[in-house]
Amino acid sequence: MSKVNIPQLVSILKDILPIGFNALHEPNLKGNELKYVTDCIESGWVSSVGSYVDLFEEKLAEFTGMKKAIVVVNGTAALHMCLKLVGVIENDEVLIPTLTFVATANAVTYCGAIPHFVDSEEESLGIDPIKLDAYLEEITIIRKNECFNKLTGRRIKALVPMHTFGHPVNIELLVKIAEKYHLELVEDAAESLGSYYKGIHTGNFGKIAALSFNGNKIVTTGGGGAILTNDLEIAKMAKHITTTAKIPHKWDFIHDCIGYNYRLPNINAAIGVAQLENIDYFLTSKRKLANQYIDRLSNVQGLSVYKEQEFSESNYWLNTILLDINNIYQRDEILTELNNQGIMSRPVWKSLHTLEMYKDCPRMSLEGAELLEKRIINIPSSVLLGEK
Ligand SMILES: *Cc1c(COP(=O)(O)O)cnc(C)c1O
Repeated sequence: MSKVNIPQLVSILKDILPIGFNALHEPNLKGNELKYVTDCIESGWVSSVGSYVDLFEEKLAEFTGMKKAIVVVNGTAALHMCLKLVGVIENDEVLIPTLTFVATANAVTYCGAIPHFVDSEEESLGIDPIKLDAYLEEITIIRKNECFNKLTGRRIKALVPMHTFGHPVNIELLVKIAEKYHLELVEDAAESLGSYYKGIHTGNFGKIAALSFNGNKIVTTGGGGAILTNDLEIAKMAKHITTTAKIPHKWDFIHDCIGYNYRLPNINAAIGVAQLENIDYFLTSKRKLANQYIDRLSNVQGLSVYKEQEFSESNYWLNTILLDINNIYQRDEILTELNNQGIMSRPVWKSLHTLEMYKDCPRMSLEGAELLEKRIINIPSSVLLGEK
C-alpha cells in the first residue's frame, strides 16, 4: 500500500554505486580487444572474411552449447534471417510479445509478414504461456498441419519468445504450445547470452535463435549479431544466404538465390573473441550487482527488484525495479529524480502495438504488458558496477 520513499531509494542506490555518473550499461573492453583489433589492422584482414569470424563462431557455439553459430552484422539482421530460414513468407502472421524492442517486429515486417502481438506476465517479463494457449485455442484452426487465424484467414507461421533483460521466459510451456499449434519456435535471445533455463542455454529450445552484440548488450562487437541453431542444414543455409549466396568458385561470380550482405567484419569478430574470453567474469560481476540491488532495495517499500525464477539462471543484463501497482503514478517522478542524480534509469520500451506503424496489427488483450510497462524501471547494470 505504501508509496515509494524516493530520497531513501536514491540514497541506497548511491551507496551501492560508485560516485559520479552511472550509465545504464556500458561496455567493458579491458581484455584482448585492442590486441586482436590491432592484429586485424596489421594483417590487413579487416573485412568480411578472416580467422576471427571463424573463431568467434566456434566460441559462440561452444559457449551456448549449440551445434552452430553464424555471425552477422547485427541482431536485427539475425532475427530477419531466422524468420526467413524457418519459412516465414509474405502475408504470414508471427506471434511476438508486444513488450519487446522494436527490432523483433521490424524483422517480421522485413519478411513481408505481420506481427501478431501477445501478452506478457510478471513471473518472467516475457510471453504469458497460459494466456497464449487459451487465446490460440479460441482464434486458430489447424488445417493440414498448419495454423490459421480464423479472424484474418492468414497463416500463423511462427512464435518468437524474447528473454526480457536476460531473464529466461517460461520456454518449456512455449515449446509445447508451438508443437500443439504447429508453429516454428524462433528465440529472440538478443538479450540473453549467458542465461540458462533449467541448465540449458537460451537459444536451444526452438529451431533457431538470434543474438545481438550491440554496444549496450552483455557482450559487444561494436555492432553485431549471430544466428544459433542445432540443425546443420539450416546452419549451412544461414551462412549461405547471409554471405550473398555465392557458390564457392576460384574466380567466377555465381549466386544461386537472392542473398544478403549481412556479414560481420573480421575486425568486429576480433572484439567478440576478446569479449567471450571474459564472459564468465562479466556474468559473475553482474550477478553480484543484482544480488546487492535485490538485498538492499528490499528495505524500500512500494517496489521490488526482479529476481530470476528458481529454474532459471539470468545474465542480469539489465536490473529491473518493479513498482507496486498502486505506485505506478510515481514512475516518471522516480525516473526524473534518478536521472537528475546521475543514476541513469529508463522505462521499458513502449508496447509495440501502440506505435503508429503497428497499431492495426492483430493482437490479443494485452493488459499484462500494459501494466508491466507502467511498473518497470531499469537501473545501472554495467559489469564494472559489480566490482564495488
Ligand atoms: C538488441 C535487440 C535486438 C536487435 O539487435 P541489434 O543488434 O540492435 O540489431 C533484437 N531484439 C531485442 C529484444 C533486442 O534487445
